[in-house]
Amino acid sequence: MEKGNKSISCTVEQCKNHCGNENYCALENVRIGTHEANPKMSECVDCQSFEQRLSH
Ligand code: SF4
Repeated sequence: MEKGNKSISCTVEQCKNHCGNENYCALENVRIGTHEANPKMSECVDCQSFEQRLSH
C-alpha cells in the first residue's frame, strides 16, 4: 500500500491496508464496529476493515 488517506489516521502497521511510510490507512473508507454489548471506552471499538498482512 503506497497512498495514505489523510482522512483516516491509523498506526496499525501490522494491517495489510496500512499505507506503510506514514500513519494513514490506504483505503477509501473503513468500517468501525464494536465487540461489546455496551461499549464504554475506545478499547471497546475496532476497525473491522483490518486485514492481516501475510508477507514479511
Ligand atoms: S483497515 Fe483499519 S486497521 Fe487497517 S490500516 Fe486501515 S484503518 Fe488501520
